Amino acid sequence: MNLVLLGGPGAGKGTQAEFLIKDFGMLHISTGDLLREAVAAGTEQGKLAKSYMDAGNLVPDEVIIGIMKEKFQENDISNGLILDGFPRTTAQAEALDDMFEELNTQVDLAILIDTPDNVIIERICSRRMCKSCGAIGSVLGVENPEEYVCPKCGGEMYQRDDDNEETVRNRITVYKENTAPLTDFYKAQGKLKKVNGAKVSNGKKNALAVYEDVKSLINA
Ligand code: AMP
Repeated sequence: MNLVLLGGPGAGKGTQAEFLIKDFGMLHISTGDLLREAVAAGTEQGKLAKSYMDAGNLVPDEVIIGIMKEKFQENDISNGLILDGFPRTTAQAEALDDMFEELNTQVDLAILIDTPDNVIIERICSRRMCKSCGAIGSVLGVENPEEYVCPKCGGEMYQRDDDNEETVRNRITVYKENTAPLTDFYKAQGKLKKVNGAKVSNGKKNALAVYEDVKSLINA
């Protein structure tokens, strides 16, 4: 199955992808992760992308589509894909359909992780990433955030350059203008399903509770 995860910044796409990889073993492609790797490696692509990313703007479509084309050529995608953060514009969604057609495959399902803006802002400002294993964590409710280590591997955690309130407000605006219209794109293809990304279970917002809904859509 080829699955597209849709949703604003901090909606939980990366976290849900982590659960899906464990259960279904599909190949996970996150354009955000690929761009951050390119920035860290200091490649030309990374240098170009960094100014857009730091401001919370979209990297130009032709750069992103080029990266995805390479990814699809380099990898065996026959066991299915989780696309996280791509497509983000209608032009990218159309290019994805074209690339998939050439590969005799298609998008099977697009899941919108619907999360209110106030939850997104709180989540992003407290989000931390692991330097060693890339896991996503949060210092929300943590007494000593400076001492917070990776819950998975004990590695050192860092805050993404674009995970601050000013940038996240722009990322939300950019999402609403450019990416939210993709829900209509996939609805028109009969492929859109939605989950509540701020689902509460036992009085707490719970990513595993969201995952139960994601899984039931995949197994439907
Ligand atoms: P993410 O990790 O998905 O939140 O992406 C981080 C940043 O990378 C975004 O704010 C954009 O600047 C850039 N980015 C990631 N994916 C795309 C995409 N499909 N199209 C354009 N820019 C992207």
